[in-house]
Amino acid sequence: MSDIIQLLPDHVANQIAAGEVVQRPSSVVKELLENAIDAESTSIKLILKDAGKTLIQVIDNGKGMSTTDARLSFERHATSKIRSAEDLFQLHTKGFRGEALASIAAIAHVEMKTKLDEQELGTHIKIEGSKVISQEMSATPSGTSISVKNLFYNIPARRNFLKSDAVETRHIIDEFQRVAMAHSEIAFSLYHNGNEVYRLQASNLRKRVVSIFGSKMNEKLVPIEEETELITIQGFVAKPEFSKKKRGEQFFFVNNRFIKSPYLHHAVVSAFEGLLEQGTHPSYFLYLKVPTKSIDINIHPTKTEIKFDDEKALYAILRATVKHSLGQYSIAPVLDFNRDSTLDTPYEFSKKVAPASTPKISVDPTFNPFKTEQKSSYQHIPKKETSNWESLYVATEEAQQEPLFSDQQETQTSKTLQIQKKYLLSSIKSGIVLIHQNLAHQRILFEEFLEKLTVKEANSQQLLFPITISFSSAEIEMIYSLKADLESVGFDFEEFTKESVTIKGTPTTISESKVTEVLEELLENINLDVPDANYNPMDDMAKSFAKSLAIKTGTSLSQKEQENLVHNLFSCKEPSVAPNGKATFKTLSLEEIDSIFKN
Ligand code: ADP
Ligand code: MG
Repeated sequence: MSDIIQLLPDHVANQIAAGEVVQRPSSVVKELLENAIDAESTSIKLILKDAGKTLIQVIDNGKGMSTTDARLSFERHATSKIRSAEDLFQLHTKGFRGEALASIAAIAHVEMKTKLDEQELGTHIKIEGSKVISQEMSATPSGTSISVKNLFYNIPARRNFLKSDAVETRHIIDEFQRVAMAHSEIAFSLYHNGNEVYRLQASNLRKRVVSIFGSKMNEKLVPIEEETELITIQGFVAKPEFSKKKRGEQFFFVNNRFIKSPYLHHAVVSAFEGLLEQGTHPSYFLYLKVPTKSIDINIHPTKTEIKFDDEKALYAILRATVKHSLGQYSIAPVLDFNRDSTLDTPYEFSKKVAPASTPKISVDPTFNPFKTEQKSSYQHIPKKETSNWESLYVATEEAQQEPLFSDQQETQTSKTLQIQKKYLLSSIKSGIVLIHQNLAHQRILFEEFLEKLTVKEANSQQLLFPITISFSSAEIEMIYSLKADLESVGFDFEEFTKESVTIKGTPTTISESKVTEVLEELLENINLDVPDANYNPMDDMAKSFAKSLAIKTGTSLSQKEQENLVHNLFSCKEPSVAPNGKATFKTLSLEEIDSIFKN
């Protein structure tokens, strides 16, 4: 047989490599920002049009490139950052693979202007699909400006897979925030479709975090600081009472690089043990510095995972440091981790053991800063009988709220029975059906919203007084990009400012008290997964609304409400699955029930 192997032409190889490096506009943003940082810039500007689909431009005041370098920078494996494999073990730059510019130039229209400080004139290069279109000398400021236009213009399949502008903007803002947070010593600005989204001055870490997440962040931060041989830790955690329903503001940086680490995340969360309200997540901004030799840097360029040599020790140090800082800045007695354990013993008893002890400040060890009601503190009135009586009382009260199978006869007449404030049980011809109340209600609301969104019949209610909700500027940008869709479901906006939005009308299905929550969750839920062919941005919005508004587990429902829920569920187009893909109900046939009792 004749030889059949050929080397791929460069532009094809570049396109293939581009598939790995450039998934979406935010990947380009990341690479260009990192190059600007590696070039020792002190000021970096990012300009976007249409969520980066039309234009991504990064302008820096860094060291620039010579004409030869400018041309070479678009070649594959062309880098000024390493010379040999050994250099990999002492990396001090973001990039080192020399792939980014070559990849980007393979799948977009790229224009670069660059000038070394000592040069009179700079270089201006245009490249399309890896081909140099023009190259000339040009008057341009010191530093580099790269614009990337019409991303994926030559790979329609990739271009079609890009998500809505809202989603792509969100990805870009996430990337921008990570880079800006990792380098507070550099000034950054971000413009989208002519709007200034961020203008960040060079500053210290605290100011940088606050200017990204909004001025309210300042009072929430507890500083973290620790220096050991293995690791230096700096940064902030948010006070426990500001923990959020959603994850989100959780950032680790290792040697100024954003990383994800479920393991270290666990260390931080465990330091908050006992301080967080159930179902909430702490915010943190933690900057770790470790010797470059102790981490595996040879990671994939787009991945954010990292391997540490001594992970266990880092875990322990991190956990202890966060715990200590929370204790130091204790805002409530519960944060006193070195609490004298005798304080946990009933008052009378401890007095007997240590009659001459110095008076101690009375600490309520179960004091919970999130609970506003005073109930729990009764348990600490030292009188034994009282606390017993109290707990008895609480128990009976609960028992009364939850009748245990008192309605047996009724279930036969196909009435429903609520179980554990979570499920509805109903008898059907063939046996029984068990319905998950929250998931079922999500399905019902989802279909309702989807209908409104597609029919575009906006059922809006005007508010008596417009409400103003504050958001970070990134969030405002997101809401703004969803404005048209939100209006089509019945939102009516009065004003957008850099840190707030004023709403004068809401969809009839969303009560005024729920508006903030619904919008916050929407921002959180905007689908960030890899797009699929059936993707529809309306779906995301309807899903999110349904999730925020559905009856929660733990809510008791009246007989009428239960019946309505069951009825509405089975009037749905697709009653059996919730919008998140989970089953909404399960039936058990009589045979299945019989078989349970066979043996
Ligand atoms: P890498 O960053 O991995 O070296 P890139 O393809 O991102 O690979 O960039 C190739 C080279 O181009 C870099 O090594 C650097 O020398 C040069 N370069 C890229 N962007 C800039 C910039 N903004 N300023 C100065 N030099 C740059
Ligand atoms: Mg690079």
